[in-house]
Amino acid sequence: MEKGMNVAEIFGQDVFNDTAMQERLPKKVYKELKRTIEEGKELELDTADVIAHEMKEWAIEKGATHYTHWFQPLTGVTAEKHDSFISAPLESGKVLMTFSGKELIKGEPDASSFPSGGLRATFEARGYTAWDCTSPAFVRRDAAGATLCIPTAFCAYTGEALDQKTPLLRSMEAINEQAMRLIRLFGNTQSKRVRPSVGIEQEYFLIDAGKFRERKDLIYAGRTLFGAMPPKGQEMDDHYFGTIRQRVAGFMKDVNEELWKMGVTSKTQHNEVAPAQHELAPIFEVANVAVDHNHIIMQTLKRIAGRHGLKCLLHEKPFAGVNGSGKHDNWSLTTDDGRNLLEPGSTPHENIQFLLVLTCILKAVDEHADLLRESAANPGNDQRLGADEAPPAIISVFLGEQLEDVMEQLISTGEATHSLDKGKMHTGVRTLPDFAKDATDRNRTSPFAFTGNKFEFRMVGSRDSVAGANVVINTIVAEAFAEACDVLEQAEDFDLAVHDLIKEYATRHQRIVFSGNGYSQEWVEEAQRRGLSNLRCMVDAIPALTSEKTVAMFEKFGVFTRTELESRGEIKYENYAKAINIEAQVMINMASKQILPAVVGYTKVLADTVLTVREAGADHQVQAELLTEVSALLKQTKDALKVLREVSEEAAKEAKSEIRARYCYEKVVPAMERLRRPVDQLEMLVDKEVWPMPSYGDLMFEV
Ligand code: ADP
Ligand code: MG
Repeated sequence: MEKGMNVAEIFGQDVFNDTAMQERLPKKVYKELKRTIEEGKELELDTADVIAHEMKEWAIEKGATHYTHWFQPLTGVTAEKHDSFISAPLESGKVLMTFSGKELIKGEPDASSFPSGGLRATFEARGYTAWDCTSPAFVRRDAAGATLCIPTAFCAYTGEALDQKTPLLRSMEAINEQAMRLIRLFGNTQSKRVRPSVGIEQEYFLIDAGKFRERKDLIYAGRTLFGAMPPKGQEMDDHYFGTIRQRVAGFMKDVNEELWKMGVTSKTQHNEVAPAQHELAPIFEVANVAVDHNHIIMQTLKRIAGRHGLKCLLHEKPFAGVNGSGKHDNWSLTTDDGRNLLEPGSTPHENIQFLLVLTCILKAVDEHADLLRESAANPGNDQRLGADEAPPAIISVFLGEQLEDVMEQLISTGEATHSLDKGKMHTGVRTLPDFAKDATDRNRTSPFAFTGNKFEFRMVGSRDSVAGANVVINTIVAEAFAEACDVLEQAEDFDLAVHDLIKEYATRHQRIVFSGNGYSQEWVEEAQRRGLSNLRCMVDAIPALTSEKTVAMFEKFGVFTRTELESRGEIKYENYAKAINIEAQVMINMASKQILPAVVGYTKVLADTVLTVREAGADHQVQAELLTEVSALLKQTKDALKVLREVSEEAAKEAKSEIRARYCYEKVVPAMERLRRPVDQLEMLVDKEVWPMPSYGDLMFEV
């Protein structure tokens, strides 16, 4: 029998973690590094030299030949440039393996080829990567061998952030400062820090790599742009939590092993709703590390898939007609001594600090709903939000029965006197134990749901970094905390003031709370009555990034400057227009080079058949009808193709990215839909043998 994996033994073996640091670093250096990590003190260069040397020795023992500053530019994926440890040859002709403190702390990649959204026009191309020592370095193994990866932030010469990590770290400082003020008001004198805890559930699809290569849309756009539904989709609900196929199970085993070695706590795996869809979730950890680890997870899924002859699709909507993929961002606030500020306890109505935290979050989400929505906007997510499979594009908060009842008491009488009991779960079977229920049921349709002791933001797309969403959540909550503390720190009667504040926030922001079915049309109408916005697409969402309210908040907390926000808005418009343009070009290419020729060939076969059958003196009506039907769709395809060509050429002429993006949304996307329709109908009529690419059925059911 094959020997099982010893998880405890391999876990973190490729991470320069606390154990490795304690073992390797001189005590003084170790202490200094710990201080830097915990208190954000600056590292002295000679200390960094010692750390770099030891880190290099450790990495070389792990087989590493190169190091890289691993960063997250605004391309949506991570970036890296590899440098080997070798130094200039000695006289003896040998080389030394070196790595200095300077090289560890700072890198200098040319920033000019990364998106900067206009920052580059006004500033120098120089960019710096700076070590984020709060996220541990690790060794990654792939075809390139073993590489020491150093998580870094990426900034322009002038200090503007050019990445996802820098604002995330800034927002963590903001929430720390304000949350500390808040807990001090409630008499907490011991805790030294408050940090956001984040747990990210990652959905993905797995398909056969050979079939992937036969689809230009998957290769270039990451999703199918044509494709008729197979006879079976997800209607039987038999894939969700179903038995994992052996080929997929083998893949998951390897993914877990790699992740565990790199210190990623891969915890849960299961089949998701759509055929060929799966999920992986690690255990939550401090926000910046969780975000880094999510990037490692996405990369590992892709890399290991190759090993199994599979392809991992991280696109938000690889297939029309079945669920797409998202990422659930579980968020809470934890003190350094392990207290969760979002823990209601068994009697939340008595937990005043919790009620203040909760109502502050309601206020934050209500006041910045558009910004939160924007943080989940990407072109792929446009296909998913509001399509009855993911939360609608309307932001609302689900609190659950118990908390909603507490809120109602607060609003109606100004005081909450009791909490609904959790109750016992009675199974009705004697041999099954009765157990204590959770205080609330779940609501899968809510975009921002309270789930016991954390909020779960369910809008983020599967490909996106969750950094953006966490920057927003951290900062809007920091702002709400700050405003509450401004009032409470001045209050003569604290108890009375906090009571009034909770009541005021609960009353004023009641409209954001919703526990019904978020997928329903009634909610869309109800939300409109409540004055909640419904930003259906990315192009509509982007302006929230640069509204006066947003700029003022981010500048106040030092998370983004106006320039940075404007550049990010610019990048988003550009990215949207580029993504749509690529999709349109792929469709044009597939339609003209693959689909039209195949269908034209098929009409000839049909025409020949009609003639032959007629000559033979038999009834050729069916064949003739089929030919007419196919020819009509062929004509529709040709016409739609022409329109798509025209509008995408028109789009390319528009120099201003905001206008180009809007034009793409209003003109190009509908033209793409118009082309897809007749093609998908043709796929149902044309002989499978002549259809030039694998079908949805082949892709989803034959993994
Ligand atoms: P559910 O299935 O209810 O969403 P899970 O326990 O599966 O809950 O959690 C999903 C994710 O949320 C996991 O990554 C988990 O580690 C994370 N999580 C659990 N508790 C917290 C918390 N207090 N703060 C942040 N994330 C959390
Ligand atoms: Mg969940």
